[in-house]
Amino acid sequence: MDIYSRFGLRPVINVSGTMTSLGASIVAAPVIEAMAAILPQFVEIDDLQRKASAVIAQACGSESGYVTASCSAAITLGIAATMTGDDSGLIERLPDTSGLRNEVVVQTGHLVNYGAPIDQSIRLAGARVVPVGAATESHGYQLSAAINERTTAALYVVSHHTVQFGLIHVEEFIALAHAKGVPVIVDAASEYDLTRFIAAGADLVLYSAHKFLGGPTAGIVAGKKKLVRAAYFQNSGIGRGMKVGKEGIAGAIAALEQWQQRDHAAVRARERSYLELWREALNVRPGVRAEIDADPTGNPLDRLKLSIDPREARISAWDLADALAHPPAGSVPVIVRDHEAELNFFFIDPCNLHPGQEHSVLERLLDELERAQQAPHPLITPFFQRDARRGAGRRNWPD
Ligand SMILES: *Cc1c(COP(=O)(O)O)cnc(C)c1O
Repeated sequence: MDIYSRFGLRPVINVSGTMTSLGASIVAAPVIEAMAAILPQFVEIDDLQRKASAVIAQACGSESGYVTASCSAAITLGIAATMTGDDSGLIERLPDTSGLRNEVVVQTGHLVNYGAPIDQSIRLAGARVVPVGAATESHGYQLSAAINERTTAALYVVSHHTVQFGLIHVEEFIALAHAKGVPVIVDAASEYDLTRFIAAGADLVLYSAHKFLGGPTAGIVAGKKKLVRAAYFQNSGIGRGMKVGKEGIAGAIAALEQWQQRDHAAVRARERSYLELWREALNVRPGVRAEIDADPTGNPLDRLKLSIDPREARISAWDLADALAHPPAGSVPVIVRDHEAELNFFFIDPCNLHPGQEHSVLERLLDELERAQQAPHPLITPFFQRDARRGAGRRNWPD
């Protein structure tokens, strides 16, 4: 019996990207093997984390590293590390930070929500967020002015959710923070490039093991040895609830190893073939413009951007996204990347598909576009109602 029937779940096709709410990513076979191999055994976790440190150091070009529960946990524990160092008394005292440096500077345009608000992952450690600049504009002088004797860290966020213009670039951000003696933590949860931010001088760089790396749910911390140690030691404090088990550590190690051996060019070519297949078939549909679109943070990954003219297509982008996710009985739900749907476009992301699913995605899109053409009335609901509709569907969980 497959896992869907066993648990009574709808099979879904994920063209939205690596989303926690859908189970993140396809875990690579060597990772699954490594996790299965360690699960029945006892190991000394300090030694397993020491091995993880060596693998992370090699992959990221850092002095050291360790594995925690998630990138979100890594932000909290990395900030904690800057406040307590390796002092056990201070580690047990958090989130009480009285008497400690406890301010974290972050550009306002970086205060994103990745499923939870990023400022909360800072506040969880007992630190205080000091926003720098305006949402769409910040300058070096504003960062320098925001840093004072209470500043414990500067956080830099790399994400498609951040404002992509008008902000301080990472090199300048690091230079200004370091000029004031403040360590820089880079949240690179969803980035392919494992070496760039360490090479740029960041003190800690944080990744999600379960996003592009195809690992289990875990966070990878890379950086300066003293800070990595102080972050790891938080496991005797606020990190206890964010710890990772042996399987998560072994899985993250295996994920980093297979990532370095993966034939990235072949993966890219396969993804390109899906994009071209979809583009050719969808571009000719009424009210649909299909274009291949580069990843906004520069990951070597393209997506198909589908811009919908609701009058010609007779359906809005958000209603089309919802129809794909909630199909008639017998059709498989397709989850698209629709965080900008109110602008009348969404993306389909080729990087989490099993072979053959590219055809199912296309079939479902063509079906829904055709259904909209045949419907007696166009389906264009007011966008502002969408949040409430989605909220209502979930309010009575688990019923
Ligand atoms: C996904 C993401 C996170 C959270 O990562 P988890 O490992 O899922 O906790 C944090 N920051 C950014 C920029 C992300 O994209």
